[in-house]
Formats: sequence, structure tokens, C-alpha cells
Amino acid sequence: MSMTRAKEILKHKFGYDSFRLNQHQAIESVLQKKDCVVLMPTGGGKSLCYQIPALMLNGLTVVISPLISLMKDQVDALKNSGVEAAFLNSTQSAAQQSAVYRAIANKKLKLLYVAPERLLQAGDRFIDYLKETDVSLFAIDEAHCISSWGHDFRPEYLQLAKLKAHFPAVPVIALTATADKLVRRDIIDKLEMNSAALFVSSFNRPNISYTVEPKRNSYGQLLDYLGKRKNDSGIIYCLSRASVDKLAEDLRDEGFSALPYHAGLDKQVKERHQELFLRDEIKIIVATIAFGMGIDKSNVRFVVHMDAPKNIESYYQETGRAGRDGLQSEALLFFSWGDIAKLKSFVQVDGDQAQTSIMVKKLNQMGEFGDLKSCRRKFLLNYFSEETKDICGSCDNCNTDYERFDGTIIAQKALSAVKRLDERFGANYTIDFLRGSQSKTIRPEHKELKTYGVGSDISKDNWFDYIKDLISQGYLKQTEGQYPLLMLTEKSAAVLKGTEKVDLIKVKIRLEKKASLVSETEPEYLSDLLTDLKKVRAVIAKKESVPPYVVFSDATLVEFAAYLPQAAGELLRISGVGDLKLEKYGKPFLKEIRKYCEMHHLESRMHLKAVKRQRKTKNKAKAVGSKNDTANASLAMFKSGFSISEIAEERCLSTNTIETHLARFIESGEVKVGQLVQAHKIEPIKKAILKLKSGGAAGPVKEFLGDDYSYGEIRAVLMSMKH
Ligand code: ADP
Ligand code: ZN
Repeated sequence: MSMTRAKEILKHKFGYDSFRLNQHQAIESVLQKKDCVVLMPTGGGKSLCYQIPALMLNGLTVVISPLISLMKDQVDALKNSGVEAAFLNSTQSAAQQSAVYRAIANKKLKLLYVAPERLLQAGDRFIDYLKETDVSLFAIDEAHCISSWGHDFRPEYLQLAKLKAHFPAVPVIALTATADKLVRRDIIDKLEMNSAALFVSSFNRPNISYTVEPKRNSYGQLLDYLGKRKNDSGIIYCLSRASVDKLAEDLRDEGFSALPYHAGLDKQVKERHQELFLRDEIKIIVATIAFGMGIDKSNVRFVVHMDAPKNIESYYQETGRAGRDGLQSEALLFFSWGDIAKLKSFVQVDGDQAQTSIMVKKLNQMGEFGDLKSCRRKFLLNYFSEETKDICGSCDNCNTDYERFDGTIIAQKALSAVKRLDERFGANYTIDFLRGSQSKTIRPEHKELKTYGVGSDISKDNWFDYIKDLISQGYLKQTEGQYPLLMLTEKSAAVLKGTEKVDLIKVKIRLEKKASLVSETEPEYLSDLLTDLKKVRAVIAKKESVPPYVVFSDATLVEFAAYLPQAAGELLRISGVGDLKLEKYGKPFLKEIRKYCEMHHLESRMHLKAVKRQRKTKNKAKAVGSKNDTANASLAMFKSGFSISEIAEERCLSTNTIETHLARFIESGEVKVGQLVQAHKIEPIKKAILKLKSGGAAGPVKEFLGDDYSYGEIRAVLMSMKH
């Protein structure tokens, strides 16, 4: 069986042009009837690794998945792509179940989803049944659940050990998104897949950017953050049920569409809230960690942690729920060492000192991540034993410059306070003491000390930053334990004596725009068209009662709104459009796109849809060169006769960027304004500029003129008016 056929199925059934990560290898292995274990991050595309073989093999593929709540959506999504699939679980009526059995008997099904419990049925009844059925493949989803070393052990998974013995000739593919080396080994052992191939993909989630903010006035910060993301879906994690309820209510009072989710709510309430979130009918879910396992919503744009998670594994998994569709997404953590201290009691494992100390170590690593000054992505990947470059370009640290100043005197005040307090107090008390707090908590004898109040000119927040900075530079240290005390170090004496200067961080300056690898891979799209298309999708999803992403993913809609396909053939070239979806949904979307294009005098931009070749390496080259280099490169191509769209395609940049590059050369006369802007547009742009007196800024002019005019065109005219 050939991989050519597999590629055809990929294109025609699922609408994708090429395989991702290890999909190719995994499919090939399965088709050769070899067992394999596939490790891919969330959103990597594990499902296709068994769905495509399922369509190529003669018999039935049985998928074992613990996530009963997901099965229906998964099956609906498959059916929508023209794949005959069904599920069996306890939520179904007897009639529904017998319909499924009938379909199996009539060889109508390619995929059957079952929960592991099903295999436990009395006396191997189900296994015996399967033996009489023509089973071609077993796929075990969330395979880490079989390992007691993992963080999500499920005893019923141990039953799967039987599979190999009962079905020695049927290949098994085990899939998971989280498994360290120990767990990988355990999966292979427990499933008795002795000669299994192991396919491990990178755990990097390039489309997620990581940011950590100090946890101070986090609610205010959150409101700002959400205010800028009103149209996006997101998950906000809190530690306790009480804070989930309160935050969800507060957010609703502020006008956000947010609902709570935690284990203390009634089952129906939880299900309803989850459902509303999945179907895009509410934007925000505020939740404890009870929420998430089994959330297959692909367009989660942000995940916020109001409190620190207990370990990096949890943080990675929870933030990993963002951006499964591959579009740019964000992870935001509000961090304080206080949280880490609070969690220390939560991670105790009763009566198991060894396990407790592993958990405490993991917790401290979480703290280290929160306090990190270097690339956060690198830290995460190294944590999962993966090497990567030092700077990712899309985390807060890679995008932040630290300005330092001579903070010797501040440092001396802090260190002498710690000394005067005999190294017996924590940061909070020390800061109150430095600021001369009148609070009763400050002991009377401390109020007599010379250092009391010497730091009253500095705010509490700033003191926290300075103390943290002093700790990270090794001038102070903190004891372990729930109430860490500040202590001097061997480096402190020189500062106190005045023989060593200390530089402190002044302000965090966020670099203007993240030079992320990923935002470039997102085409520039017309956001109002995208909004219209989402409405079309919502209507269809509601009618068919499936989540919107089952119709088309956000990523697919973004491509519609970027490349403006005008006909069925063009639609098929968009990622995520297969034959059946074209037939089922093509018309209403085409109609909407055409309507928009007519209204705005736009045409298809399918010619801009570059093959996604070597985007990454090209971007890297771009990041290295200076602004002028990149503009010069565009100019050189322009002069040698390439059109703007050809340059954009060749360089993997947007046309807007190329136009902006070229506009720079108008002043020197190397490029003429007429080469960049259609003749009839020049006058209206000039008029708008003069009317708005925007002082050289393109933004207000663009806003005024609307979508018929690009930034590039406006900049070109602005430049031409300069000379
Ligand atoms: P996982 O189970 O690994 O979390 P999924 O199988 O749900 O990931 O896939 C995530 C998303 O990526 C889905 O929308 C899927 O259709 C899409 N996808 C999978 N493989 C490809 C591919 N080769 N090209 C483009 N998109 C893909
Ligand atoms: Zn980084």
C-alpha cells in the first residue's frame, strides 16, 4: 500500500497538502503492520496517524480513547469529511448501540471509537466479539494513561495489555502528547509492543507565545488583557473553586462572556458550560484544572494562569490547549513566589517522603520558570530533554530589554535591613520595615532601628522587584519552606562595605513587535470578512448541531479571508477543504466571499498562496539582516522586474511589507509613486492625508479610507508628498 494513496486521502478527505511532523513515518509503519508509539504535542495531528490507515486497510480500526465526552464530536468531524465512523459508549441507548453493531456487521464502518471500560466487559465479551470482526488496527489514544509513572494513570487502561495476546497479527498504534522517557518505556512494556517503533516529534509549540507577569493587581491586568481580545476564545485557570466562581462572576459583571467550570458544579452545569464554550457561544471559561482533559477546541487563542501550576508538566499541558489550529496564540501566567510557597502544602504526598520531595522539586522548577530572565521556550523544551536555540523570539523575555541603573544605595539599604532584622524575616516584612510602615505587625524594637523607614521613597511594588533582582544576582538568598526568610550571602559584605557596585533593573521595555517565527506564517487576512465567515459557519454548525470547528477550522477561515477563493477549484486549494466539505459547505462560503469581494472591488488572491516551502529558514535569514538589507533586497527584485506579489511570494513576506519596503525609495527617486499605487487611488489618498493632518502616520489615513487602500499604498503616497 503506497504512501501516494495516503497523500491522496490526506488531500481529498481532509483537505491538507502535506504531512506534518512524524505523520508520514507513523502511517507508513502502520501500513506495514508494525506497532508504533507516536509522541506529538497537542495539535500536532495525532489523529490522522490512524485515521488515514483506517481508510486504507480492509477491516475496522478500533480507537480506544478515555474521553467519552469527545467521542461524538470526533465522530461527527470524521463523518463530515466523508469517513464512516461511529462510537460505542455508556451514554448511548440500547437502540443506538445496536445500530452501531449492525453497521459493523455490514462492514459499513471504518473507525469505531470505544472507551477502555468496554474492553473490561464481563468475560472478555467485547474482545470475543472483536475477534469475530475483521479488525485491522488498534489505535490507543492518550496512551500515557497506562503508566503509573505518568501524571494521569487510569487503571482501566491496564486491560489493554491483553490486546497483543488476543490479536497478535493486528498492529497497534499508541499515541500521546505527554510522556517522559520513563513513561514511553512503560507504554511499550505494558502494551507488550516489544518491537514497536517510537516516533517522537518536537514538543515545541511555535505558535504559542509565553508571557509571565508579576502577580500584582492581576485582576486589573487581566481586564486590560481581555479587553484587547474581545473576539477570542480563552481559558483562565485559577487554583481554587471559590476563586473560579468569583472571577467568572466579576468578568460577567464587566461584560465578558465568561462561565465557571470546576469539579464542585453539578454535572449538567459543567456539561452545559463546556458545550457553550466548545460551540463558541461563550468566549471565556474560568476553570480549575478539572477543565481541559478532552477539550478538543481548536481555536483557543489564549490560556491565562491566575495562579501558578504545580509543575512544568501541568503548565505545558494547560497552555498547550491554546492554538491547536496552528494560529498564533498566547499563554499568560501571573506569577509570584508566594504562590509557590502556598503550593508547597498541596504537593505533599501523605506518607511518601520520596514522592513528596520529587513533587517539591518540580514545584521549585515551576518557580524558576516564573522568575526566568532568559528564553521561556528554551526552558520548557530543555525540561523535556529537547535542545533548542537560546532565543525563540516569541516569549516575553526574548522580547524584553532590561535597562539597568546604579542601584548600589538601594541594595545597601535592602541588605542592611536584612542584616538588622537578623535574617529572620521574609520579603514582605522587610519591605514594610524599609518603608517605615506604621503597621502593628512591625515589632516596636524594630521601629527603633536606624534602617527603619530608610526606603520610604520607594513603592512596595518596586521594592519587590529590587529584592527579586538582588536574589537573582546572588546578593540575597531565600530559605526554603512555606515562609521563606531573606538572608545575606557571601556576596553581600562587599556591597555593605561599599566596595562593590550593584546594577538593578529599571524598567521592562517590551520590544515593539515580536519577531516570531509564526506570525509570519499566518497570511494577512481581512478581519471583517473573517467575522462574516464565522457567522456563516455558526449558522451551519447550529443547524447540524456540531461545534463550529467541525465545519471548518479557524485556520481554514483565515485562509479564506486572506486568499479570497472565488470558485470551487480555488476553494479546494485551501488547507482544510476536502472533497466532501467542499460539496457540503462550499457554496455558502463562496457566496459570502464573492459578495464581500464585489462590495470591495477585490479579486482572488490565490496566486499569493505560496507553497509553504522553507518558510522558517527564510524567516531566520530575514531576522538576521537589518531593516535596510531587507528593503534593499526587495528593491533589487523590483528593479529586475518582479511584481510586488511575486516578491512577496518569493520572500515569504506580505505584499504590504514589500510595499512598505519600496515606499522608502520614493524619496530618493528610485521608485515612483505610480509604480506602487494605482493612478486613480493617488488623489483620494492625498486628500485624506491633507484632511487628517496625520503628520506622516499611515494609521489614521488607513482607518479613514478603509479596506480598498493598503498601508503600503498610503505610505507610498506619504513618502511622495515629502519631497
Ligand atoms: P492532536 O490529536 O495531536 O492534538 P489533531 O489530530 O486533533 O491533533 O490535529 C490538530 C489539528 O491539525 C486538526 O485541526 C487537524 O485537522 C489538523 N491537521 C492534522 N494534520 C494536518 C496536516 N498534515 N496538515 C494540516 N493540518 C493538519
Ligand atoms: Zn524566548
